[in-house]
Amino acid sequence: MIKKIGVLTSGGDAQGMNACIRSVVRTSWQHNIVPYGIERGYEGLINNLITKMDPRSVGNIVQLGGTMLKCARSKRFRTKEGRKQAYDNLMAAGIDALVIIGGDGSLTGATIFSQEYNIPVIGIPATIDNDIYGTDFTIGFDTAANVALDAIDKIRDTADSHNRIFFIEIMGRESGALALQVGLASGAEIVMIPEILTQEKEIFEALETSINNGKTSHIIVVAEGNKSGSIYEIANKVEERFIDFEAKVAILGHIQRGGSPSCYDRILASEFGVYAVKQLISGNSNVMVGTKNRKLILQPIEKVLNGKSEIDKNLLDIGKVLTSI
Ligand code: ATP
Repeated sequence: MIKKIGVLTSGGDAQGMNACIRSVVRTSWQHNIVPYGIERGYEGLINNLITKMDPRSVGNIVQLGGTMLKCARSKRFRTKEGRKQAYDNLMAAGIDALVIIGGDGSLTGATIFSQEYNIPVIGIPATIDNDIYGTDFTIGFDTAANVALDAIDKIRDTADSHNRIFFIEIMGRESGALALQVGLASGAEIVMIPEILTQEKEIFEALETSINNGKTSHIIVVAEGNKSGSIYEIANKVEERFIDFEAKVAILGHIQRGGSPSCYDRILASEFGVYAVKQLISGNSNVMVGTKNRKLILQPIEKVLNGKSEIDKNLLDIGKVLTSI
């Protein structure tokens, strides 16, 4: 019988984490389980930043970006000594299960901890990168995509007024999922992602086609981790090649992590939170909640960590079809 559940947010922050904390806290309460918020992820667990929560402690946060519990990356949790301290603090508070909201690093920590101390854990995938195997969507992805899209729509106004080629950098060091989504939705002529090397020749050809088709401004979406080099170098080469155009760079950066979570992210976060607590109550552990074809699913964390999330390359092809005429 679980009597006390601890919840923490870990790794990088993502919009919708607050809605998820709210969901975990209120669902626990509904089932006569006392929820505890752990601040600053695993680091807070080691530092004993553990506070009892109730339905009112999570009031008025469903609409807020960031996370009221703060996020952190903890080097100490990677050590046995750090995890022992974390376990001692959990036992002192009487907490008998954990909900971990975060990315795959956080899930790795969760599964190691759970196996070491036989404490039930449930993972909830939250990262703007949408790069976790075992779920179609992670909390934060939809909002980050919409924030980036809004910025690009604004950039389009200025691009069009001045014959400009805009290179826009989107977050995603190892995954092009966010750039792909934003690229298609913004009507970008080219999307450069870490998974596929974009040759200089392809960029030139796409721009030539675009110019020959009578377009006067162009958008190129570049994921942070693209394999073709620095966005500034690419922009310089393009400016040398297309002398009638100015090539401009805009790096959206951490703006993409901010803002009020979208309707979709709030719903996903709420669903995941309820489902996670119910799974703990029914005796499940070491699993991650996810969504597949709009249905809630469970996957063993081990399977999640051994799997590889695939980007939807179809989005690239659709983008090419729609921008090459
Ligand atoms: P994001 O995708 O946003 O980066 P993440 O959850 O993948 O989120 P990480 O920094 O990789 O972010 O992991 C978060 C924390 O999880 C780490 O700071 C560490 O405390 C813990 N963690 C990660 N890997 C391990 C591990 N092998 N052993 C123990 N703890 C780990």
